[in-house]
Amino acid sequence: MTAVSTKPGLADYAARPETSRGRIHLEPSHSYRGDYERDRDRVIHSSAFRRLVYKTQVFVNHEGDLYRTRLTHSLEVGQIARTAAGRLGLNEQLVEAICLSHDLGHTPFGHAGQEALNRCMQGFGGFEHNLQSLRVVDKLEDKYASFPGLNLTFETREGILKHCSKRNARELGDLGLRFIERRQPGLEAQLANLADAIAYNNHDVDDGLRSRLITVDELKEVRLFGEQYTEVMRQYPQLSRRAMIHETVRAMINLVVTDLINTTLANLQQSKPESIDAVRELPPQVLFSEPMLEQHLALKKFLNQSLYRHEKVVAMTRQADTVVTELFGLFMADPALLPADHAVKVGADSNDHQARAVADYVAGMTDRYALSEHARLTGKKLAL
Ligand code: MG
Repeated sequence: MTAVSTKPGLADYAARPETSRGRIHLEPSHSYRGDYERDRDRVIHSSAFRRLVYKTQVFVNHEGDLYRTRLTHSLEVGQIARTAAGRLGLNEQLVEAICLSHDLGHTPFGHAGQEALNRCMQGFGGFEHNLQSLRVVDKLEDKYASFPGLNLTFETREGILKHCSKRNARELGDLGLRFIERRQPGLEAQLANLADAIAYNNHDVDDGLRSRLITVDELKEVRLFGEQYTEVMRQYPQLSRRAMIHETVRAMINLVVTDLINTTLANLQQSKPESIDAVRELPPQVLFSEPMLEQHLALKKFLNQSLYRHEKVVAMTRQADTVVTELFGLFMADPALLPADHAVKVGADSNDHQARAVADYVAGMTDRYALSEHARLTGKKLAL
């Protein structure tokens, strides 16, 4: 493994507040806080960010206090990305702002909730959590005097919007353009995207083993885990099961992050982009090496088959689907059930407006709030 050099300063290809494409609503700059720093702080102070603590990653929040939630997931993504950003000469504050906001649009109950809400929203423009994260920071947070949303910089919003259909992209102005013209976002956005994948692969190994839905013996067959586990066993044969798993996951994260940094540095040394705009014209630069990508994908495939499709997770998924679908149906049938601040947003009489307001409200719910609202409104008590 090649050594990663000591921390450089901000590179030419990094995002800089002074060359930012700015905010939708013009604001005076702060006397001592940079624009990306302000973006990050606004995200941390948002109510959508606080709600992430009670939203499922894979395991429903009340299954145990030790499992990841969307909040701790977002913090882990931010930590991994910041470490790499420092070594790559990228803007750490921007990368952190992107990572902390990337999951703000997630529904309760993880992907099960998203799929249910998307199904409910067919005919009303659909529902997509990534686009919803942007909607939260652009429109739904309601707390500033001079603008709706958090009024974040273009670069943070560019990083939040990881993928987007061409149809939706056409409605997003400048921000949507890259999906139509097939261009890349800045390196900070590319990095946040891969840090997300590194974080969930690794913490789902940890959470999956903790839940005992997957076993060490099964995982040893997956090279990325197996090789690190064997090495930890060799060095510390007396270690407890828990510490053994922790040391293995720690070694896995270190291995993939180091590979990512070295591969990306090599890419950038070749392509030598002189600005973030030059980066946007290049193919993706933040990448794993081919052999590491293979290992990363093999682990992802294993988790997909063995954990996310485990019968216990699937059973939870079915219940979550019922909660979200029934809540949506109830609020559509009787919009008077919506709380006042959401009802106002219904505005016009059109069904589309009403459906979007209901989707915004349901998507914003935490797991436990969705469950208690569902129980209150239907009289049914579902055990998730
Ligand atoms: Mg994520």
